[in-house]
Amino acid sequence: MKSHGYAAHDKTSPLVPFNFERRDPGSKDVVVEIAYCGICHSDIHQVKDEWGGSMYPMVPGHEIVGKVVAVGNEVTKFKVGDLAGVGVTVETCMVCDNCRAGAEPYCTKGMVGTYNAKTYAGEITYGGYANNIVAPEHYVYTISPKLDLAAVAPLLCAGITTYSPLRHWGAGPGKKVGVVGLGGLGHMGLKFAHSFGAHVVQFTTSESKIEDAKKLGADEVVITKDAAQMAKHAGSFDFILDCVSAPHDLNAYLDLLRLNGTLCLVGLPEVPLPVGAFSLVTNRRSLSGSMIGGMKETQEMLDYCAERNIVSDIEQTSVQNLAEAYERVVKGDVKYRFVIDMATLKS
Ligand code: NAP
Ligand code: ZN
Repeated sequence: MKSHGYAAHDKTSPLVPFNFERRDPGSKDVVVEIAYCGICHSDIHQVKDEWGGSMYPMVPGHEIVGKVVAVGNEVTKFKVGDLAGVGVTVETCMVCDNCRAGAEPYCTKGMVGTYNAKTYAGEITYGGYANNIVAPEHYVYTISPKLDLAAVAPLLCAGITTYSPLRHWGAGPGKKVGVVGLGGLGHMGLKFAHSFGAHVVQFTTSESKIEDAKKLGADEVVITKDAAQMAKHAGSFDFILDCVSAPHDLNAYLDLLRLNGTLCLVGLPEVPLPVGAFSLVTNRRSLSGSMIGGMKETQEMLDYCAERNIVSDIEQTSVQNLAEAYERVVKGDVKYRFVIDMATLKS
């Protein structure tokens, strides 16, 4: 199947137009004509090879929405013309304990990412900065026509990555929950934690985001550079979701957890972060992490969003403006997710 999109050819050059081939759809596959693709900070980490092991040419993008244009003869959930989404995962073993439990990102054989990964058959995967994508039905989601399609795209990664740990650790009424970093993931974490009924405190380095944080559902906002504001919350949180993309001091957040509280990392800085033993043993605290979410849970999240009218706050951009968009994401200067209008591929 012929595809075209934008690719990085090394870790420093700008992304450029790229023609490539995807596998022809098989009996269980769905082909989606991509309308919009979100820009996740993970795209930038991988384009710049900040985690190591990047494979070029790389077509990034794992927040994909569009229309179904073809289905294999064993596909039951989709027909041509339906809206559909593809997220971070396109293949897992489906038989290990984790896959069977609906925890496919933790597949013991290894989950195959939508781009910058190799399928079990050894093909390189290419992502959503492109006109189309083919994926097995199991990894394709139903999208409600009720919501603004462009603003749904970020739910496929930023949405599920924050929804899943907030559900797992029981964010809800009577719980004090913190969200660190008001970016693409952070603003979705804030919306979900608020929607689940928790008392939510948004942590940010950016004074310019205080008013937005309140509008997005924060009961309180803490400027993290202000030691007095941080100290006021010492030992008080049940759960803190850390959505920061760059190195920062974890101990400052561990110190804010109450007895049995948990700090969960979803942000993926490129270097290890030091943790003091005293920050953990005090109050029997836990430090944990979470990766995206399972297929069933992702659909549940999308349905929850359709019911509650929850989408991302987005700025639309074009394939021609990727370099500027990346620069602004790195500066924390986007409200709060860029989404590429894939119609711009044609201009
Ligand atoms: P983003 O939109 O760039 O947001 C990151 C936010 O972190 C910024 O808006 C900023 O918030 C804060 N921040 C940035 N640099 C900082 C620094 N030096 N010190 C303190 N705070 C800083 O990124 P994103 O797309 O939300 O992604 C966030 C991270 O999650 C990335 O590392 C990404 O790779 C990772 N991720 C993980 C998963 C997973 O499955 N676990 C899935 C997707 C993404 P303020 O301006 O409010 O301070
Ligand atoms: Zn992502």
